[in-house]
Amino acid sequence: MDYQNILEEIQNEIQGSLKKGKLANYIPALEKVNADDFAMSLVTLDNKHYNIGCTEQKFSIQSISKVFTFTLALKRYSKELYKRVGHEPSGDPFNSLAQLEYENGIPRNPFINAGAIVTTDSLLSIYKNNTFEQILKFIQKISNNNSIEYNEEIFKSELNHGFRNIALINLMKSFKNINNNTDKVIETYFKQCSIMMNTKELAQAMLFLANHGINPPTNEVIINELKAKRINSLMLTCGHYDASGDFAYRVGLPGKSGVGGGIVAIIPKKMAICVYSPKLNAYGNSLVGTRALELFSTKTGLSIF
Ligand code: GLU
Repeated sequence: MDYQNILEEIQNEIQGSLKKGKLANYIPALEKVNADDFAMSLVTLDNKHYNIGCTEQKFSIQSISKVFTFTLALKRYSKELYKRVGHEPSGDPFNSLAQLEYENGIPRNPFINAGAIVTTDSLLSIYKNNTFEQILKFIQKISNNNSIEYNEEIFKSELNHGFRNIALINLMKSFKNINNNTDKVIETYFKQCSIMMNTKELAQAMLFLANHGINPPTNEVIINELKAKRINSLMLTCGHYDASGDFAYRVGLPGKSGVGGGIVAIIPKKMAICVYSPKLNAYGNSLVGTRALELFSTKTGLSIF
């Protein structure tokens, strides 16, 4: 299949939609991007790379980081972690407090904010003061790129405007579902959201999920096959907040979005994809990114169904 040609077709077809959607504005630092940017990268298991658009442009990975921290936590925990965070879609916005109150401080899944905060708390119990460094090291390792870093301005902006996330962590602490100091957990969570990567790096970093947990460039087992299956399943059912059903319906692939405008998607046994376009739809997912992935799976016939 001529993937490069397909990427070019997609780039042409999404032009009309680049004006639609809205930049994330819950923190000022996220609005300082070029609103019309578009990039898409594919990396195959046999190390072929296809790129279109501004694929060198780094952006804030935001909630895509939840896949990395959940993977890192699952390496050490299994059943114990699922007692503290569920595996059901939430049907609620990413930062919702209401469901958490009804459900006794146990977040529905690791890909909504509350669930990711519990995951980060579980990492703090292992790595203590070194937790963010370990998260970053893990991401650098799986992307084979030691230059990946976080953005201090976005991190500070998250801290200064993090009222809902701080409310979420305090609510969970009241239900005894946070074990570490809440300031430390929330700082680590905001730092992981502020990590900057481009579409090439993100597609590369996700490739182990297309390969039963083994990282193709090095053959290293990042996570066992069963856990890799579970992470993919959660991405399919919970990767896009309350629009997860819509994403599965349109694209038919496991995926995870971030409010920075990135979306990663996995084609099992074939490739990992990352698309970037910072304007979001009403659910906080990249509007053009979702459209581009829908076009890709339709044109190639490569969905999991
Ligand atoms: N930093 C964001 C928050 O916690 C992440 C949300 C997202 O990317 O969807 O509010």
